[in-house]
Amino acid sequence: MAAATPLKPETLRTLPSDAVRQIQWRLADRYDLQMLVQSARSVARGPVARLVAAGGRNSHEWTPAKAELLEAFDNSGITAVFMEPGEGGFIAGPKNLALALVAFELAWVDGGAATASLAGCLALAPIHERGTPEQQSKYMQLAAPPQPGEDRKPWRGAFCLTEPIPYVGVDTGMLNGKVRIAEWTPDKEPILQVEKRGRFITNIGFANFVTAAVDSDDERIKGSCVIILEETDPGIFDRGTPTRKLVHQLSSTGDPIFSLRVPASRIVGGYDLQNGDIVPRYNHSEVIEAVFRRTRVTVGIMTAAKLLSAVEPVIRYQRGRFRGAETAKPGSVRYELGLQAREDALHRLVDVWASGEASASLGFAAARAFDELDPLERETEKLLAEQGISAGRVRLRFLKQISEKAEGLLALPANAKERVQLQSDPLLRFVMLDSQADVLCPATKLWNTGWGTQMMREAVSLMGGYGITEDCPGFLANKWMDAQLEATYEGPEAVQRRQLSITIANPLFLAQFRVWIKEMRAIAAERPGTGACTLATAMTMWRWTLERLQRATDADGGRLYQSVRQGVTFPLADALCWLLASRQQILDTLELEQRGVSDPALAEGLPGLVSFMTDLCHVQSARASGEVARICAELVFGYNRHPAWDEAGYRGCYQQDELDSLEGFIPGLGSYGLDVIGNDGSHPRKAGPCAKCNGADQFLTLQSKLATCLTGSRLAKDRAADAISKIMIPEALDYPA
Ligand SMILES: Cc1cc2nc3c(=O)[nH]c(=O)nc-3n(C[C@H](O)[C@H](O)[C@H](O)COP(=O)(O)OP(=O)(O)OC[C@H]3O[C@@H](n4cnc5c(N)ncnc54)[C@H](O)[C@@H]3O)c2cc1C
Repeated sequence: MAAATPLKPETLRTLPSDAVRQIQWRLADRYDLQMLVQSARSVARGPVARLVAAGGRNSHEWTPAKAELLEAFDNSGITAVFMEPGEGGFIAGPKNLALALVAFELAWVDGGAATASLAGCLALAPIHERGTPEQQSKYMQLAAPPQPGEDRKPWRGAFCLTEPIPYVGVDTGMLNGKVRIAEWTPDKEPILQVEKRGRFITNIGFANFVTAAVDSDDERIKGSCVIILEETDPGIFDRGTPTRKLVHQLSSTGDPIFSLRVPASRIVGGYDLQNGDIVPRYNHSEVIEAVFRRTRVTVGIMTAAKLLSAVEPVIRYQRGRFRGAETAKPGSVRYELGLQAREDALHRLVDVWASGEASASLGFAAARAFDELDPLERETEKLLAEQGISAGRVRLRFLKQISEKAEGLLALPANAKERVQLQSDPLLRFVMLDSQADVLCPATKLWNTGWGTQMMREAVSLMGGYGITEDCPGFLANKWMDAQLEATYEGPEAVQRRQLSITIANPLFLAQFRVWIKEMRAIAAERPGTGACTLATAMTMWRWTLERLQRATDADGGRLYQSVRQGVTFPLADALCWLLASRQQILDTLELEQRGVSDPALAEGLPGLVSFMTDLCHVQSARASGEVARICAELVFGYNRHPAWDEAGYRGCYQQDELDSLEGFIPGLGSYGLDVIGNDGSHPRKAGPCAKCNGADQFLTLQSKLATCLTGSRLAKDRAADAISKIMIPEALDYPA
């Protein structure tokens, strides 16, 4: 009897569908969000794509055609996502995931269009986060799109923080914008004079109001604030000249000048009168911190969308590359596979795809974290108010105590019954999630946009010369350039790294990180193909390195882990981002595997899809671990001074006669002696004896374990590449080139 042919393992059949994404990014139970995705997509792949294809990006001027996009946003529900139902919106409760999904859909086609939509939210965000109830009610309603039968145009907003050089940029404390009291009649609202110049302000071409950061120029106003300016306020509301941008041309950007008189009630969050002085309730830093904390996640999502959007056009290009040539007959490898017959072309695409998956997973996880955090934050504020705990140090001390309690509970064995409190106690839940969000937001912004830009270049390169032409399907070259803006605005990489260098050292975050390492080990036991084991080792290495650097000094005795040593703290922050993205990609793949089986729309192709996604996880975790190993090794060893041929250096070397006598007891030992000092004092011809690694044995053990953990990762890459060469894709892209 002939042996049965072994069953071929299932592989990926089509590109991931909406049903797949809904499970991975946890919106399978959110019908409202699924509908929102469809609306945003119809705008992105309809009017936005048509405008880009028609050359709308060739000018940085704000044109009527670009303005029409705003109406498309209004009509599709995109504008109203930010508002509560009572204010003209349709999604109740937190909206971070909703906004992330809109950004993802729009940026899939054009980053500028996504920015134009998000900048309106950014303008409203200070009011949403810290505004008085009156301010919130007024501006949300004005900015909401008109209801059917309502005859009004919605107000558009701009957020103005950045100022002309030499003032506000990365350093947001260098405010030149000023506010002073212009008129203050007893028993009347003070009238303020605001002077502010902006640089690179999005939406300024059409904004009806602006939320601007200003500092006091009057001894009767204490500190800085964010203030709302309206285009009809008395004075100058000059939109300035448009910025000659090379990116995001579908949004409006310019350098405005404001010199306006406004009532003091426009101070975001209001003010108190203390000893006859105006004291804003929130200074500008407090407001922008609350704002950027959320909005930066959406920016990171935009770059993730670009990477994933590149997959289909690249596959189509690679497959069709030689079709039509005399030597490429239908049925031949050249005809059927084109460039996909070449391993490198496929491997590079695997890398782009894996990075896109990891960055989308990280970004959506961050958005969901903020959705969970928002109500908890409110509940915490309420509980604190009930206990009479106000802002300031008392609050900080109280929350520190809660954090320490959470840390203690996390240190208990997983089955300890006290650990239930971590889920049931809102204060404990808040501090835990807050410490995670403090890391996830800057990590998303930093890694998705920074590494994403590098990988967009890779995607462009896969299209050859076509990639850098206007004709390239999927607008890949635009997306590459646009990604660099995403890495820059709302704070470039240095800002995110600076923030991370503080938040990653939070003991409560680190306690949770320890739990995550165990979780990865447990996953590795069940699903070794995800690369979870490699990742767990890399996570352990990262933690070891952080702890070491927090204690260690450099060769001159200087402390290593401190804010001025950006050469230490920044790379360590980068390394963590790789781990977080890879971890979340693995978690999303498990979610897909577990929940996908109960989805009839997915059941058939699920095994192949999951095995492909698992291979992508493995590829990504291998890459992430390699990055972590490289960065950590450099930091652990790089601050030691290399030994020289001096007294201290000689101490670690063998003397020739000593080695000769030992050879009698241990034959062959001589061949191990690298740095041998001759009897005449001579030494090998090199700058100094080889460096030893005192105290870093554990690191080296981890490093060698990590190297062996990479076992199988290239096989995973081969499988993923093979799957890509067989996947079915539509005949043409669903938006114009
Ligand atoms: C198209 C576009 C739209 C924009 N929209 C808006 C908007 O709507 N509202 C708004 O307020 N702003 C907006 N911006 C401004 C944007 O947020 C700033 O450009 C950005 O924050 C960087 O500031 P900067 O350009 O002054 O860079 P700089 O502050 O000059 O920084 C340049 C580089 O120096 C390095 N650097 C600076 N400081 C440090 C430090 N302390 N540590 C380490 N490295 C450092 C960093 O590598 C940084 O990338 C926009 C910008 C563009 C281009």
